[in-house]
Amino acid sequence: MKIRTRFAPSPTGMMHVGNLRSAIFAYLICKKDQGEFILRIEDTDQTRKVEGALEFIYDTLKICGITFDEGPLNPGDYGPYIQSERLDIYPKYAEQLVEQGDAYYCFCTSERLEKLRREAEAKKVPFLYDGFCRGLSESEIESNKQKQKPVIRQKIPKTGTVVYEDLVYGKMTFQNNLLEDQILIKSDGYPTYNFANVIDDHLMKITHVIRANEYLTATPKYNLLYEALGFPKPVYIHLPMVVDENGRKLGKRHGAVSFMELYEQGYLAEAVVNYLVLLGWKPESTKEIFSLPELIKEFDPKRINKAPAKYDLKKLQWVNAHYIKKLSLTELVALVYPFLEKEYGKIDQKWAKHLIKIHQNHLSYGQEIIAITEMFFHEDYQITSDAKAFLEENKEEANKVIKAFVEQITNLDQWEVTEISQLIKQVGEQLNVRGKGLYMPIRIAVSGQMHGPELPDTIYLLGKEKLLANVEKVLN
Ligand code: GLU
Repeated sequence: MKIRTRFAPSPTGMMHVGNLRSAIFAYLICKKDQGEFILRIEDTDQTRKVEGALEFIYDTLKICGITFDEGPLNPGDYGPYIQSERLDIYPKYAEQLVEQGDAYYCFCTSERLEKLRREAEAKKVPFLYDGFCRGLSESEIESNKQKQKPVIRQKIPKTGTVVYEDLVYGKMTFQNNLLEDQILIKSDGYPTYNFANVIDDHLMKITHVIRANEYLTATPKYNLLYEALGFPKPVYIHLPMVVDENGRKLGKRHGAVSFMELYEQGYLAEAVVNYLVLLGWKPESTKEIFSLPELIKEFDPKRINKAPAKYDLKKLQWVNAHYIKKLSLTELVALVYPFLEKEYGKIDQKWAKHLIKIHQNHLSYGQEIIAITEMFFHEDYQITSDAKAFLEENKEEANKVIKAFVEQITNLDQWEVTEISQLIKQVGEQLNVRGKGLYMPIRIAVSGQMHGPELPDTIYLLGKEKLLANVEKVLN
């Protein structure tokens, strides 16, 4: 049987990196076995719908190279692929469940439910619907229906347990009496997310359900529905939660947690995809950099961890820096230049290209160019504390080097990288210093820092005037 997995996002906001990770895992698991990948939009909760969220989902997946065999934009045999366009499908299954005695009409008012909720809160117990309408007679149901539209609730057996096997979390056991008689069809006729999800996974012939582990506890209710409807159950693969450095679930307060925000800051899609796969999955070797085709080959869902996966921006930046180093100059300029132009307006192309090039190995993400090239654009020039310490420690020697350098560079006519490079060598020969003793004082004099891109290029790009002004400050 062909493996079919799906990504089933709800268009409720910006697509979070955790959601994107679910999509990538589901994609890898099916593509590994030449399976089919389906995109289904779960939008039956109209109150949570967010304008533009759908486009956000499509764009994110497209940029990341996660392609679908079937979905709203390329329908296959099991459409429509947007749940709000499938509303005629769900009620008949709910009615079937009512007839079989696996679901029932409920007429409880929101006031009554609110009261129950408050009581549960006061007792500090989780709120579970009390099953008040489970035992209504035919005639009570009929007369209630005249007055108000009911919801349909799942009738969970009062006793027994649900046991299922999750590929990551192993054997899961739940007591039925702790499961709620969840609503399947709302009074407006819309299915709940929980119901539509089960029906559609079955109708779309999904073989493997891959999703965040917050659904581990909803799955027993889904399994009871599968059984009541006589549907075969899918394989479950729940993914560990993505958390921040304090172990809290990653959320909006964490800044750039949507893919698009990262993308807009100049992170590369391949790098983000690569990094997200490492969030909760461990490759067999120590290798950490993988292209998408490599991932398809290597990905083994048995190596998904149970433990929460820590979202580590530093690690993402490390992975991204790796990908930035591999860009061609044209690609690099296309990624980075727009940030410079946005900050400073149009810049001489040749100069900008050169500036970007020498920073290729120093960049973690596109927008970082602004922070790491500040000295080329601003007058206020800071000497870092380690640079200060170095100058203090090597005062005499450093002073000599800087003075000789200033003298020669002031008189340099041909402002070329090779000439500047030659000049530094001459300063070294003249004073009989080499290596760190030569380059470090000059670097600090020029930039205020101990590290940076190629020194002759840095000097060249700063230009004589700005350079001499900087050096003046250090000497003072
Ligand atoms: N619509 C659900 C969500 O966005 C998907 C859950 C699932 O994959 O079953 O969280």
